[in-house]
Amino acid sequence: MCNKKISLNGLTRVPFIDPQRAAHGILIDAAAPALPACDQRTVPGVMSQRSCAYYGARWFLAPMKQVIHLVHGPVSCAFYGETVRKKRYTVFSTDLTEKEVIFGGEAKLLQNLLEIGERFPDGAILVYVTCAPGFTGDDVDRACRNAEHAMGIRCLPVNCPGFLGHHQSTGHEIGAGVLLEHFVGRDEEAVSGPYDINILGEYDVMGDFKVIKRLLGRMGVNVVTAITADASVDNLARAHRVQLNVMHCRRTGGLMAEEMQRRYGIPHVKVSFFGVAQTSAALRQIGARLNLQEAAERVITEEESTMAADLERYRRELSGKRVGLFFGGSRIGSMQNCYRELGMEVLVAGSQFGGKEDYRDAWSTMRTGTALVDDTNEEEVLRFIRQYRPDVIAGGMREKFIANKFGVPFTVFPQESGPYAGYSGFRNFVRDILVALKAPVWQIVRGESETLA
Ligand code: SF4
Repeated sequence: MCNKKISLNGLTRVPFIDPQRAAHGILIDAAAPALPACDQRTVPGVMSQRSCAYYGARWFLAPMKQVIHLVHGPVSCAFYGETVRKKRYTVFSTDLTEKEVIFGGEAKLLQNLLEIGERFPDGAILVYVTCAPGFTGDDVDRACRNAEHAMGIRCLPVNCPGFLGHHQSTGHEIGAGVLLEHFVGRDEEAVSGPYDINILGEYDVMGDFKVIKRLLGRMGVNVVTAITADASVDNLARAHRVQLNVMHCRRTGGLMAEEMQRRYGIPHVKVSFFGVAQTSAALRQIGARLNLQEAAERVITEEESTMAADLERYRRELSGKRVGLFFGGSRIGSMQNCYRELGMEVLVAGSQFGGKEDYRDAWSTMRTGTALVDDTNEEEVLRFIRQYRPDVIAGGMREKFIANKFGVPFTVFPQESGPYAGYSGFRNFVRDILVALKAPVWQIVRGESETLA
């Protein structure tokens, strides 16, 4: 393993990070706590892996049910926001052109809203404000009010032009604000049961939420809504009456958890349903909050006993393998625990748009010498591969091809092959690592790539 350390102002720096971004990476040193710089503009000219605020809002709100999504902007923004987490959604676009940029697009927006309302008279319409109307200053609020008045259908602006903020997380917060202001708590007559909860920051990637819901159901817990995996106009209206908010992703669920505690007095817990140990800990935490400790222990005992032999086998196969993680947001801390549960060594945990809290969470679980990096770019991933020679990398599609070109097995996260959540999902997680590692092609490719490096 490369253990070259660079010291700047007393802090240990990560050797594969661009010198001009030195503050965005640290090597964990238990004796000298520090966090990487984050939530800042990407250095101009650097090929960042981030996306825009509009995409962040689309990413957050895409699974919403009983809602029509209208993208107010050039048609390419709608194309960009049509596929989210590898699922395709139906979106409409006002298809703004040069004419509306010069003369204004408000009239076209109103006309589009009325057309949509005629065809889809139920639910609500979300209007995403992109860069072009953000620049020209279309009065989207007024168009929505007029359409709502004419049709009696709620038309709600999502004010998320791409230029807002430093990355997509601004859009997540804008989307959460829209849910809080216009959807959560509208049913004042709603009543709740003693074991009702919401899950915040869960998106049902390849069926993750279904696994989580089944596990909790076996304990007697009822999930009113998962935001936004299962969010609908109807269940969000009742979401303010639950006993507990369970946060699965702090970056996208944290704002709603804080605000729902402030407005409705709902307590929240942060858990992870990835990995055997973390899933058991999550069930115990939820069980303790809802007075369902016995039910939680029963489920944990059943599941862990069926996993024990397999876990041993997985560890024999994977122990000592070295992995680099390049994820989107806040799961860098909880996901590295899954690799460590298998005896693997995590070399780097990188996040595209993590915030201070996310890095603090990750820091507390990381071992001395591991790199923690913010907003990694392609060049840095390439240098990481050359310097550290990992056995496997996990990350998004943008890192995949760099890794593949240089002969490093790769697993995609968020995953594409099945749920990773819960006990059964952990088997899928391990299977994907083993399939990637054992593919014979890597030996051949690695041999050739040595000459390229
Ligand atoms: S940056 Fe602006 S123009 Fe580009 S996709 Fe985002 S909203 Fe559309």
